[in-house]
Amino acid sequence: MTQLLYLKDCYMKEFEAKVTKAEGKLVVLDKTAFYPNSGGQMNDTGTLIFNKEIFNVINVKKQGDEIVHELDRECKGILEEGDIVKGKIDWQRRYRLMRSHTAAHIISEVIHKETGARITGNQLSLERIRIAFDLENFDRAKLQGYISKANEIVEKGMTIKTYFLEREEAFKNPGLFSLKGVLPPEVKELRIVEIEGFDIKACGGTHVANTKEVGRFEFIDAENKGKNNRRVYFRLND
Ligand SMILES: [Zn+2]
Repeated sequence: MTQLLYLKDCYMKEFEAKVTKAEGKLVVLDKTAFYPNSGGQMNDTGTLIFNKEIFNVINVKKQGDEIVHELDRECKGILEEGDIVKGKIDWQRRYRLMRSHTAAHIISEVIHKETGARITGNQLSLERIRIAFDLENFDRAKLQGYISKANEIVEKGMTIKTYFLEREEAFKNPGLFSLKGVLPPEVKELRIVEIEGFDIKACGGTHVANTKEVGRFEFIDAENKGKNNRRVYFRLND
């Protein structure tokens, strides 16, 4: 089982960890700050360093309760189980994705508060953010208003906290769960992301510490992919 360092510290850029598996181009560590491709958020990239060898981490995936780092070359003969490596996150990319993920929570909650719609999916890339809603009536004209409200939240400079809640405790508040999905029974503790005074959600993603870091929302487009699938696209400006 890989310990997920980013759940407790989203701002960790470097870390040391022990190799538990090294096969071909794939490496598993006892702990990692690399975020795997999951929950609509793209994986981190960066480097793993051992002595003078530098491997580029080109992909990061979740496999069961392990995080698998895919390297740009074979590590055979260089990396072995038990070796201590240094990991470095490509911070520019990760910070952009953190801002996007917090932005997705903000805009989702604004739309939920205004329309009652629930989020059905999101996709955070470096260029744009896509949010899908189960909205009965799609009012394009109102979207600009939602974006303005989201920008007000950013300007207020609200604090964002992350912490853990026991499963039973978390289930007492159904509002914590925005995405429809089943939580595996072995999950005993949930990671919570709280934008103080505005929104609380169960989420395993990486987030900024203050809404001011998000930047300005800019509306790109909206499309109607059929009933209960209204998509909104936007980007963030610095
Ligand atoms: Zn989230």
